[in-house]
Amino acid sequence: LWITIEAAELSSLERGSDANDWSRSAQAVAQRGGLAIARILESGLESLAAAHHRAYRRCGGFMTHSTRAEAEQAVDAFLNPARRPGPRVDYTIDNGSVVAGILGHVKTGNIYTTIAQLSSFPNRRYNQPSGVDAANWLKTLWSSYGVGRSDVSVALYPHAGWIQPSVVLTIQGATLPNEVVVLGGHLDSINSGGSTLAAPGADDDASGIASLTEVLRAALSAGYRPARTVKVMAYAAEEVGLRGSKEIAQAHRTAGANVVGVMQLDMTNYKASTEDIGMITDNTDPALTQFTKDLLNEYLGYTYANAACGYACSDHAAWFQQSYPSTMPFEGVYPQYNHQIHSANDTLAQSGNNATHAAKFTRLGVTFLAEVAKGTLSPSLATEFAARQAR
Ligand SMILES: [Zn+2]
Repeated sequence: LWITIEAAELSSLERGSDANDWSRSAQAVAQRGGLAIARILESGLESLAAAHHRAYRRCGGFMTHSTRAEAEQAVDAFLNPARRPGPRVDYTIDNGSVVAGILGHVKTGNIYTTIAQLSSFPNRRYNQPSGVDAANWLKTLWSSYGVGRSDVSVALYPHAGWIQPSVVLTIQGATLPNEVVVLGGHLDSINSGGSTLAAPGADDDASGIASLTEVLRAALSAGYRPARTVKVMAYAAEEVGLRGSKEIAQAHRTAGANVVGVMQLDMTNYKASTEDIGMITDNTDPALTQFTKDLLNEYLGYTYANAACGYACSDHAAWFQQSYPSTMPFEGVYPQYNHQIHSANDTLAQSGNNATHAAKFTRLGVTFLAEVAKGTLSPSLATEFAARQAR
């Protein structure tokens, strides 16, 4: 495989001594504009992720590619952001009644329960059976929200290179089905100490998945029918180089899909800063990032500040690389965030055993959904949803 990573970071990473050590298999082959391209054996990926985490204590940090050409393209995309197409739709705020209707259905307790359930798997590693179990569990949960809706479907998205699938829920757009709005987070977790250790990943990133899951449940509970097609995604294999989101974003580009906005939620439940939300400024679209702030100002009043998170810190970078506009609101103003991630201590206890902070991201996700995908609320669909839940 091939990786792209900040050249200074690659050269600074410590070398280990075990047989799977990344440095035994990695060979830097090119360097441009501060980024390095290196060739690496798949067996070295987790060791690289661990060494990167020990040095930089952050999520992500590199991207994994199957060919050198893909790696070169990733560097090109990173170095030439001015060449990328801008947003293809105007982002406007004029769907307040739908926003309010969905917000009325948001329940913080549901977010807590989803985080607790996801973090109760021994791990959600991309290459372990429990990582597959977690995907199947999430597919079942999301499917239960879509019962009775012919416009809602849920599917596992298989990846050829590893066993954990991504999970994708689609709500077919009622009037603009060819324009796609994506809300995503990563399903997998990791423990930098070794592949047999517990990796609860409560904050990284059960919290993001749980925030999105409640956006979805609240929207369907309110009888929401989007104008544009909505896809909610739980990506596999983020922790080993954004591999799941990269394949999915690439497939959308290959198919010529018109993705008009991507929101990434990776770590939402640890209040790390005075401000409620850190707005990530690198590998994101300036117009969509500004629109996210406009949504906060208009509807929620949460405070925010800008911050960069470094090369390939989460799945938004995979969409950005394919020239799709992305935004990433984050739990703190980088580098203020939960530093217990990638360890057995990434539990709900670190967040005071509640989901108060994550609920802010659910509400922000609701405003994003209703204003970017637009659409209406159907009282009869809401009544049917309530009747099914009561049964
Ligand atoms: Zn993460």
